[in-house]
Amino acid sequence: MTETQSTHTETTAYDVVVIGAGPVGENVADRTRAAGLSTAVVESELVGGECSYWACMPSKALLRPVLARADARRLPGLSASVQGPLDTAAVLARRDSFTSGWKDDGQVRWLEGTGADLYRGRGRLSGPRTVTVTGPDGRESVLTARHAVAVCTGSRALLPDLPGLDEVRPWTSREATSAPSAPGRLVVVGGGVVATEMACAWQALGSQVTVLVRGDGLLGRMEPFAGELVAEALTEAGADVRTGTSVKAVSRENGAVVVLTGSGDRIEADEILFATGRAPRTDDIGLETIGLEPGSWLDVDDSLRVTGHDWLYAVGDVNHRALLTHQGKYQARIAGAAIVTRAAGEPVRTEKWGAHTATADHAAVPQVVFTDPEAASVGLTLAEAEQAGHRVRAVDVDLSSVAGASLYGDGYRGRARMVVDLEDEIVRGVTLVGPGVGELIHAATVAVTGRVPVGRLWHAVPSYPTISEVWLRLLEAYRDA
Ligand SMILES: Cc1cc2nc3c(=O)[nH]c(=O)nc-3n(C[C@H](O)[C@H](O)[C@H](O)COP(=O)(O)OP(=O)(O)OC[C@H]3O[C@@H](n4cnc5c(N)ncnc54)[C@H](O)[C@@H]3O)c2cc1C
Repeated sequence: MTETQSTHTETTAYDVVVIGAGPVGENVADRTRAAGLSTAVVESELVGGECSYWACMPSKALLRPVLARADARRLPGLSASVQGPLDTAAVLARRDSFTSGWKDDGQVRWLEGTGADLYRGRGRLSGPRTVTVTGPDGRESVLTARHAVAVCTGSRALLPDLPGLDEVRPWTSREATSAPSAPGRLVVVGGGVVATEMACAWQALGSQVTVLVRGDGLLGRMEPFAGELVAEALTEAGADVRTGTSVKAVSRENGAVVVLTGSGDRIEADEILFATGRAPRTDDIGLETIGLEPGSWLDVDDSLRVTGHDWLYAVGDVNHRALLTHQGKYQARIAGAAIVTRAAGEPVRTEKWGAHTATADHAAVPQVVFTDPEAASVGLTLAEAEQAGHRVRAVDVDLSSVAGASLYGDGYRGRARMVVDLEDEIVRGVTLVGPGVGELIHAATVAVTGRVPVGRLWHAVPSYPTISEVWLRLLEAYRDA
């Protein structure tokens, strides 16, 4: 339904308008289309978003050979054949195939297959239920939404305010995941997931990596032993991990990056990666036209609706609940269902485990860090559980004592922690660190989400000899504590 305004800007009415076609926007549109609501999707770069081209997929494509080689090197009979360097060019070529050479034709076909209309260009709110799209040729179209606008514009790398930063042309996660070759020397600033994964990848792909962490360890949001084990392995792989080190200034001298640290050290490198946090992509989406603050994270309720606006949803990274693709897609399924339900004039179901409330965001967010060793967690750490006022007990197990782990590789190092709520004896959180543990975390997610009493977990028997037998050791440790 198109009408022409006196300014000759075309206005088209839809049931739903989605701004941003990352994994989250795609999934919101898929749900609303499946229910028969007309849906427009606006995308300013590539359909598929950060995850497909500069985040999850390319980073994991870089890391998979690194982890496979590390696993192989732990196996007598195999290790001698894998002592050589990785074929960096082949690894980068495989990474490029996962990003489809930074072309989105495949994802556009998928999106169009849902029946959604794709608008290429920058979308901005221009008032309630209205989105103005500025196309690549500068032409504007106006889209109005009968039922909902879903803001799914994601996040971008946050750079610190440092003297000399523009001059050094620093890497962000985008360059770190798309670089065409390995820099000789790479300084990584930060100690979170992006920093540790990229340090692990590029050190193995031929760079000499120096990690500068302001705090006293890596992976500060996980149990402390996760960062310790990953730092130990990075150091053994040849990286220089410096904790308690802040960056004071950066510059480029004769082509090299020069980093001055807070303690007065001078470090030279070919490139510098800042993995120092994320900012919401909301600075230029017209939030001011509806009374919201540009550049802010968008506060939402559990149906992903923005506080104070009954037609506006903010889904995925942009709401700052959990900056992870799987969690954003979970929110997209819930937001999609909520939009469809409200469009039909029905109330959303809000019971605790209902289909229209993103309760997992509060209690059971799983995350895997694909370093060597992998670190995986779900739910609360011991410190978080205590801060939240739960009466808990944490039990730890050395993973090398598990038969499946010792078969996995000689000298297997790893650790597991289960945090049990002593009131109702349910699992509040689990952290696993060790080679191959990423695939184990879903069992813990089921236990935490399902609030399964530890007494019932005794009857969930893990196969012998798998690393999953860590569950028996954790339960015994809890019983005997
Ligand atoms: C290096 C790295 C590795 C990661 N690895 C993982 C991982 O292994 N697993 C995991 O779960 N998560 C991972 N993440 C996090 C994951 O990438 C994000 O959580 C996910 O991409 C969020 O999806 P989204 O759709 O909310 O946003 P995005 O993927 O950022 O997509 C937002 C889209 O909106 C578009 N857009 C923005 N503004 C506008 C506008 N005004 N108009 C039109 N379009 C607009 C953008 O172009 C983009 O396509 C990683 C992140 C990084 C940085």
